Amino acid sequence: MKQSEFESQLVEMFEDNFRFLCEEAGHSINEYLKKLAFDQVLYYYRKNKKIIEQITRAEVKLSLPEQKTPNDKIPYTIEGVVDIVREGDETWLYDLKTHDPDRIKAEPEKYKEQLNVYAYIWKGLQKNDLDNTAIIATPLPNSLRAAIENGAEEKIQAEFDKWEPVIPFGYDEDEVADMIENFGETVERIENSEFAPPDVKRLESKMLGMKSNFATHVCRNCDVRYSCSSYVEYLKKSRNATKNSMLKYMVNTAEENDEFIEGNLNEN
Ligand code: SF4
Repeated sequence: MKQSEFESQLVEMFEDNFRFLCEEAGHSINEYLKKLAFDQVLYYYRKNKKIIEQITRAEVKLSLPEQKTPNDKIPYTIEGVVDIVREGDETWLYDLKTHDPDRIKAEPEKYKEQLNVYAYIWKGLQKNDLDNTAIIATPLPNSLRAAIENGAEEKIQAEFDKWEPVIPFGYDEDEVADMIENFGETVERIENSEFAPPDVKRLESKMLGMKSNFATHVCRNCDVRYSCSSYVEYLKKSRNATKNSMLKYMVNTAEENDEFIEGNLNEN
C-alpha cells in the first residue's frame, strides 16, 4: 500500500503526539512498540478513511445531567463523546472503542446500552436527526498485525480487506430508562466504595468471544494489578509461579521491564 500525502503528514502528527505524551508521562517506549503504535494509527486511518472524511461533527460531548442513583439518590451526570456523520439523508452516531470486534459482538447488550443513552441525548433531548448508531473498534486484528510484521504485501492486503471494525447497533429509545438505572447502580457502588475485584475464577475464565482469559486481556493493562488480591492470587496459582518469580511479578514482568528500560534508554 502506497503512502498518500496525508499519510506523510500523519507521520509528523504522530511524532508530535508521541513527544508530547513522553514529556507528559515522564517515560517512553522502545522503537518496536512505537512502530506498532504508528501501524495502528496508519491502518486505522486507511480502513476508516471514508467515515473520517465525512465526519460532520467530531468529538461531540453529550451530557445527561441531574440524574439520581436509584437507592441513595446521589446526584450524577452521564457524559460521553461521539462522532456524528451525515451522509446524504442519513445521520449516524459513532462511538470509538479500544475493544476487539469479537469481544463487542460477544456481549452486544453492554455496548448497546451506552449507545442508546447517547442516542437518547442526541435525538430525544437535543432534537437532532439520527438514523443509526455504530461502534468503531480501534485495535488491528491479530492476523493483520502478523501480516504487517512479516511484510508480505499480498497477505497484508488480504487481511486488511477482511477487517470489519465498524459494528452497527441501531438504537431503541424504549430501553433507555432501564439503562439509566443501571448506570445509577454503578455510580452508587463507586460512591459507596464497593470496589471488590472479580474473584480469581473470573480472571482465569476466557473472555466471551476471545481466546485469552480475563487476566491476560484486562488485568495485564490494569495499573493497580500488583495491589489487587485477585490478580496476586491468580499469579500464585499460575503454573510457573515459584517464590522467586512471584517477587519478579510483584515489581513488573520481565517483558514489561525490558520494554520500559529500552524505551527510556533510547529516549535519554
Ligand atoms: S487487576 Fe485490575 S482489572 Fe484485574 S481484577 Fe484486579 S482491579 Fe480488576
